[in-house]
Amino acid sequence: MLKSSSECVKVVVRCRPISEKEISEGYERVVDMFPERGVVEIKNQKNGEVPKQFTFDAVYDWNSKQSDLYDETFRPLIDSVLQGFNGTIFAYGQTGTGKTYTMEGVRSDPERKGVIPNSFEHIFSHIARSENQEYLVRVSYLEIYQEEVRDLLVKDQTKRLELKEKPDVGVYVKDLSSFVCKSVKEVEHVMTVGNQNRSIGATNMNLHSSRSHAIFIITIEHCEGERQKEAIKINLSLSALGNVISALVDGKSSHIPYRDSKLTRLLQDSLGGNAKTVMVANIGPASYNYDESLTTLRYANRAK
Ligand code: ADP
Repeated sequence: MLKSSSECVKVVVRCRPISEKEISEGYERVVDMFPERGVVEIKNQKNGEVPKQFTFDAVYDWNSKQSDLYDETFRPLIDSVLQGFNGTIFAYGQTGTGKTYTMEGVRSDPERKGVIPNSFEHIFSHIARSENQEYLVRVSYLEIYQEEVRDLLVKDQTKRLELKEKPDVGVYVKDLSSFVCKSVKEVEHVMTVGNQNRSIGATNMNLHSSRSHAIFIITIEHCEGERQKEAIKINLSLSALGNVISALVDGKSSHIPYRDSKLTRLLQDSLGGNAKTVMVANIGPASYNYDESLTTLRYANRAK
């Protein structure tokens, strides 16, 4: 059965637990979640109006486990990547709301590993079970900051890369490095190197990471050579991406504004068409996050 674009875009919301610090500073939780109905409610303490309510494909509250998200939301996407679809997972939300926790998690703790290490394990265990097929897994890691593209896996971190387009391959990053990985451990090593490079040259890491988009690309090839599968991670989004997704979901727009930013150009083949996308909107639970949380929920609501 053919699926419409909207069925290929899944939007979920995750709210992190209120922190000890927030409790000690007297902040209250203003977010309520009803996972059985996919509903999130947020109330404005200042004006006492009725809470605003939003419905999503799934909502995950402060009690949700990494494995809940993986099994229900991410596993089906990675399965379809292993079947040959393009897949994109991205996390969106204010700094400090759990994007890194959702994407990478705490690698040393099996219970708290995020979607990236979990998907590596999933992919490599699939490969190990497929006796009659050879696979090649390659990874790349890049960052887009102020419309400049930087390869996070090379020594020279001052180099900027260009986006190019070819009829047969589509949009690609010229001269982007990629590394063949044979195990989860090797991918994790590459990721660590990239994360270290990401912080190089940033005087204020919080400011930098809230304005930049890191994209981790896993390409899976059958060894007959053809590039087949790709799973992509982005840890932030921007309005151009919102516009593309809402145009795709709308289904009526003849023009999808991929060309409005490097991020959307690069993701063109991974959004829409044969691709599946999961967007995780991360929010904080506390009253002082109200404005930002509402903005994130509205953005995510557009992308539904
Ligand atoms: P971001 O990447 O969006 O800036 P982080 O992932 O660094 O945010 O999360 C901020 C803090 O909240 C971290 O200390 C992280 O461990 C914690 N945290 C985030 N989400 C959760 C969660 N679902 N459960 C427990 N702790 C979380």
